[in-house]
Amino acid sequence: MKKHVMILGAGFGGLELATRLSQSVPDLVDITLIDKSDSFMFGFSKLDVMFGRRQTSEVKHSYDKMDKASLTFRQETVLSINAGARQVVTDRGSYQPDILVVALGADYDTAATPGLDEDGYEFYSPAGAERAREVLEAFAGGTVIVGVLGGMFKCPGAPNETALMVDGYLSRRGLRESSTIQLISPLPMPIPISKKTSDAIAGILEDHGIVYSPSTRVTRLDPLTHKAHLTDGRELPYDLFLAIPVHCAPEVVLASDLAEDGWIPVDPATFATRYSGVYAVGDVTSAPVPRAGGIAEGEAATVAEVLIAELTGGPSAPPYDGASACYVELGDDLVGRIDVNFLSYDTPVAKFTSPTHQLFEEKQAWGATRVARWFDR
Ligand SMILES: Cc1cc2nc3c(=O)[nH]c(=O)nc-3n(C[C@H](O)[C@H](O)[C@H](O)COP(=O)(O)OP(=O)(O)OC[C@H]3O[C@@H](n4cnc5c(N)ncnc54)[C@H](O)[C@@H]3O)c2cc1C
Repeated sequence: MKKHVMILGAGFGGLELATRLSQSVPDLVDITLIDKSDSFMFGFSKLDVMFGRRQTSEVKHSYDKMDKASLTFRQETVLSINAGARQVVTDRGSYQPDILVVALGADYDTAATPGLDEDGYEFYSPAGAERAREVLEAFAGGTVIVGVLGGMFKCPGAPNETALMVDGYLSRRGLRESSTIQLISPLPMPIPISKKTSDAIAGILEDHGIVYSPSTRVTRLDPLTHKAHLTDGRELPYDLFLAIPVHCAPEVVLASDLAEDGWIPVDPATFATRYSGVYAVGDVTSAPVPRAGGIAEGEAATVAEVLIAELTGGPSAPPYDGASACYVELGDDLVGRIDVNFLSYDTPVAKFTSPTHQLFEEKQAWGATRVARWFDR
């Protein structure tokens, strides 16, 4: 008898898990992969859209291109999850799988920052990235603030990338001389696990004339005065406020029996939740690792090993090691790489490789490999 594995969310985590199970144990599982969207988009593609490098249609990867053994994709919205009963209700039906994996990612709470919806622009959602592109196209120069509004957010490198891409974009349009760029973040340094990496990135920000304020946070925007109010007491005027909004788990997760303190607690070695047969991976968990695609992918690979061992009676899977490579675009079409390992040693470690054009190519190839594996191209 095949086991029914249901994966909620076809992002980094869900796609990787579905691919691995389909490749390794197609005769032992029926996989249902559910997502409310019709297509996947890499996080970094939102920056490409925002800065006018690519059209949204070019960076969307349609789920209907997936053709994998024992896998069914369903475009449905998850409406409720009862993990204790292993029950899922969507807008199209209700399910009771043998194994349930929640990979629903993180949502954004723009209302948590008063004034943001009226006077700022989040660019972390596909629609937000498109809006930000229009606003940037109309921008005639002035003060740009890139503000990180919460302590836990997707891709620690992204705010630095964004500030440097604003710099490049304004330079290309001849507006850099008449503009200032501020990067404001609650983190104490750009990449908190590595001072060496952080010093290198802070140096690059300085070289590009970007004013970097760490360890402080914008609490609200005043749409009348166009000033950002900070936790350190400052009030900074802006002409354009680009926001990395406060993150939260999707509403359906918060309303379920899985959430605790806003996220899903898991065993970071196996990603099992406290309910039998129920796992969670990626941005939706409170595992002690950053929110990043490469991390979600590694977590999904671990869950695949755990499930394969269970289904085949093979040796148990090694615990998740928290290792990943993270590419950071650091201006002038140069990309640096940060190799991190969060869980193998007593303290997390990171190795920084300075930005080069070659790593820019490597990042493109990294994305292309995922597209080929996940979407069967
Ligand atoms: C601007 C930006 C740049 C980034 N750059 C990088 C980078 O360079 N490298 C890197 O590793 N990471 C990067 N990231 C982070 C990366 O995109 C995320 O960490 C990663 O996508 C998390 O994977 P996930 O599987 O947990 O969630 P996601 O990939 O977000 O997938 C969750 C899925 O769940 C679906 N979903 C949610 N709610 C429902 C529901 N109720 N019903 C049905 N479906 C639902 C969503 O549609 C989505 O497809 C970046 C992110 C952003 C925003």
